[in-house]
Amino acid sequence: MRNLPSTLAAKRGLGLLGGTFDPVHTGHLCLASAALSAIPLVRVELFPAGEPWQKSRISSGIHRLNMLRIAVEYEPLFRINTSELCRIGPTYTIDTVKNLREEVGPAMPLVLILGIDQWLNLSTWKNWAELTNYVHIAYCCREGTVEKPIPDQQIAWVADKITAPEALIQMPAGRIAHFEMAPHRASATEIRRTISTQPYAQAMKTLDGWLHPGVAQYIRSHGLYGVMRH
Ligand code: ATP
Repeated sequence: MRNLPSTLAAKRGLGLLGGTFDPVHTGHLCLASAALSAIPLVRVELFPAGEPWQKSRISSGIHRLNMLRIAVEYEPLFRINTSELCRIGPTYTIDTVKNLREEVGPAMPLVLILGIDQWLNLSTWKNWAELTNYVHIAYCCREGTVEKPIPDQQIAWVADKITAPEALIQMPAGRIAHFEMAPHRASATEIRRTISTQPYAQAMKTLDGWLHPGVAQYIRSHGLYGVMRH
């Protein structure tokens, strides 16, 4: 059998990046790329949320999915997983990871990727402490996030699970790692606010490359976020 190059042979497992992606921006893609650099994963799967239970008034799933498709069209290491979009009712990550674990079997490393805002919010999620029965968690800093202290119940839960990011692929689930990402200020809230308050051309200048050009064009042609078309 032909030998694989060692870098290829060493890669195992999947990264899972959930989000509202309303809209997808370069911060999301940099987060996924940073995870791939820190953890030798085969690829990152992007999970657009169906009905995020902690957010109200989001764009339709089809718009968010179309924008995501445009953004990752030429990104072979990113794949869109529509399982959360297809599920009826509120989107809970615990359901997603349970289903995925059943699909891929017990051996494949699965790594849930989080920005620090989500990491610090984790203990508000449904059945959050069970997540590591199905996946690892890898989190990284997010520019502009005011870091509040990690909740007490999370500190105790994390204590015996911490490991290095590259070690996550040595087992299927159960560990927690921090990884580095070059700071990126993009946020979907800021994008929506800018688009709704500035003429399109000016908004694009203000956003300074936070949006894939095809996604920006999609927002304009579908009149999303109160875009001013002139
Ligand atoms: P919103 O502003 O609407 O809350 P968002 O920009 O935070 O949206 P989400 O889709 O909610 O985007 O985020 C999905 C994941 O990506 C979360 O784990 C979040 O922490 C992370 N993330 C988003 N933007 C960045 C960024 N600029 N740097 C690092 N992580 C990010």
